[in-house]
Amino acid sequence: MRVLVTGGAGFLGSHLCERLLADGHEVLCLDNFFTGRKANIAALRDIDRFELIRHDVTEPILLEVDRIYNLACPASPVHYQHNPVKTIKTSVMGSINMLGLAKRIKARVMQASTSEVYGDPIEHPQKESYWGNVNPIGIRSCYDEGKRVAETLFMDYHRQSQVDIRIVRIFNTYGPRMLSKDGRVVSNFIVQALKGKDITIYGDGQQTRSFCFVSDLITAMTAMMEQEQCIGPINIGNPTEFTIQELANEVIRLTGSKSKIIYQALPGDDPKQRQPDISQAKKLLNWSPEINLEEGLCQTIAYFDRLLVQE
Ligand code: NAD
Ligand code: UDP
Repeated sequence: MRVLVTGGAGFLGSHLCERLLADGHEVLCLDNFFTGRKANIAALRDIDRFELIRHDVTEPILLEVDRIYNLACPASPVHYQHNPVKTIKTSVMGSINMLGLAKRIKARVMQASTSEVYGDPIEHPQKESYWGNVNPIGIRSCYDEGKRVAETLFMDYHRQSQVDIRIVRIFNTYGPRMLSKDGRVVSNFIVQALKGKDITIYGDGQQTRSFCFVSDLITAMTAMMEQEQCIGPINIGNPTEFTIQELANEVIRLTGSKSKIIYQALPGDDPKQRQPDISQAKKLLNWSPEINLEEGLCQTIAYFDRLLVQE
């Protein structure tokens, strides 16, 4: 098949392009390089079945493909809050453009949605049926509400125009190819530990997240795209929950770092807890994550170790 990956030069997008090529597909990688990097896809550029397109999803584009994975959108709070108006435009106009394209060429289109649609959740763990607890006017809203509108658009194009859609709600995913200045917690802690700098916990560190290694996530995303029973939304993530304090301790242990932990102000609207209920993904996709936190952190630490030597 010919597959379009928007945001294909980013962290998840580059792993997805790699997997799709390994599975024998032709891949069109589209990116505006806001947080994506050519280095992420450098190893793919000599493959005949791979093509790179510099384009912004807020502008329409006409391509002939069978599948569209819509990943274009900055994912780290630091990056998505840098230009919040652009962030919401990317989710909303990007979705309209990709859905319009899918409708016209009769392609199947998947939206990379997020656990952020649940906001600061009162229901725990989060099931797909939960409607969430999102602040519509806070500093995270450009991302959270943008992704919620994107889900609405996907469902409405499906109901109104029978567009063939899939929606995955991705929970915190980490791994090699995150940017060293990405700003998300796993990359921040690892880079700080490897450089011997203070490890910055925001708040008291008792807030929780459930961390999924990238290879597990990509397996579930591609399986969801190719099954015929369910359009989603479906949760994808690793349900093992950790406090941010536990994550910091684990990174220090695995890097053998002498860094000390410091506590800084908690950003506004930071969710207190997050854990996916993945019963649907288990049943429908026959999928569960295989890489535990220790193993995934070791692979990510090895990546940053190499990267920091080059930087
Ligand atoms: P990332 O920032 O590494 O990747 C985003 C990519 O989209 C980058 O390559 C960036 O340059 C590109 N992009 C941004 N705006 C664009 C635009 N207007 N036009 C074209 N390209 C644009 O982040 P990621 O972690 O790889 O996330 C990928 C997708 O998955 C995002 O949609 C994100 O919301 C979603 N997601 C990720 C996570 C996670 O934990 N990694 C969790 C939930 C959802
Ligand atoms: N966090 C932290 N130190 C950092 C970066 C993040 O303590 O250097 C915290 C952040 O406040 C949040 C959690 O780690 O509670 C996860 O943050 P991240 O930005 O990775 O993802 P999100 O909040 O979007 O889940």
